[in-house]
Amino acid sequence: MERRDWTKQALAGLAPELLKLHHEIWAYAEPSSAEVQSAKLLCEVLRQKGFTVEENICGRPTAFIATFGAGHPVVGYLGEYDALPGLSQQAGLPRHCPVSEGGYGHGCGHSALGTASLAAALIAQQYLQTSGQPGTVIYYGCAAEEGEGVKPLMARDGYFDATDCVFAWHPGSTNGVVNMEMIAVKTAHIAFKGITAHAGGAPHLGCSALDACELMNVGVNYLREHVIQEARLQYAYLDCGGTAPNVVQDHAKLIYGVRAPKTEQAAEIMQRVVDCAKGAALMTGTTVEVTPRMGYSDLFQNKVVASILNSAAQQVGAPAWAEADFELAKQFTDQYTPAQQNDLQQTVQRLYGKEQLQQVLEKPLDTKMEAFDETKMLKIYGCSDVGDVGYVTPTASL
Ligand SMILES: [Zn+2]
Repeated sequence: MERRDWTKQALAGLAPELLKLHHEIWAYAEPSSAEVQSAKLLCEVLRQKGFTVEENICGRPTAFIATFGAGHPVVGYLGEYDALPGLSQQAGLPRHCPVSEGGYGHGCGHSALGTASLAAALIAQQYLQTSGQPGTVIYYGCAAEEGEGVKPLMARDGYFDATDCVFAWHPGSTNGVVNMEMIAVKTAHIAFKGITAHAGGAPHLGCSALDACELMNVGVNYLREHVIQEARLQYAYLDCGGTAPNVVQDHAKLIYGVRAPKTEQAAEIMQRVVDCAKGAALMTGTTVEVTPRMGYSDLFQNKVVASILNSAAQQVGAPAWAEADFELAKQFTDQYTPAQQNDLQQTVQRLYGKEQLQQVLEKPLDTKMEAFDETKMLKIYGCSDVGDVGYVTPTASL
């Protein structure tokens, strides 16, 4: 039997169990780092299939690694299973219909993400078992992808060191090997501590942490002029020191995010942001504590692995959508705003040409497997924690 047909047959065998798992994780819809039940469910299936599971890795209770087999090649699959706030949603409905108002939901398709990566790992396992070939399959239980991300910690702690290549995927509106590079991000919490006083009676005795935040922001806003074009400097108040204007605020806290095409560039700019914080502390007589938080390296595709993935994807082709799938998709796009409709039309026209525009808009699901073309790599201003994996082992995403 051809390898492609063998794979399809193996997948069909696993499908009922995996669909059930996908729906269960959808219903759990757990926040980043609190995906307790979702992680437990995935670990249970992996153990039952003969994988060795190590839970609670990198100091994150919902992160895990599951290993099967021995020797090379060592192939890894990244699985994610966390949800986003405010996206609680009943399954299968084309309009916003929350299960619990304001609750968490899988807006980003992570209920399918961890499950489909599991499918790939289980099929690779079946291949090793059937063929008797040496090889190791690793499923990475990547907690908190929507939050601070565990993959950079896994990379730091050496979990990818023996892995020959890693495959990742993410739901999207088109099919194909990811043909884009993403930028790096570094974030930090900046907490100022001052001295409180009555702002009317004794302002000369106070040192304002809120003033320090504002002076720091002014400094950073001047810094914008003197960083590379592609950089982004962003901040938000985590603590503005209270709600009373007649009390000198002795505590205030900001979160800063620096985005730049390369990791070193983001680090260099973040250092200058920290200098602005130090300057503001000096100006106001406060003290400042800087705590580095989430940081992702820039994401690039390993071209060799991406090409292999592309040739396999071209053989398999796009998903075989049923009529019901097209109808449901159409119910979604019918609700788009004029701006969203316009955006959709442009994408369809780019992929299918003007002649097929109306036809595709009637059945708005991608029926092609786009070809990977490394000469047409898009630069995206988003970022992903898969970037850190790509720096330690050859990685490509579908
Ligand atoms: Zn996502």
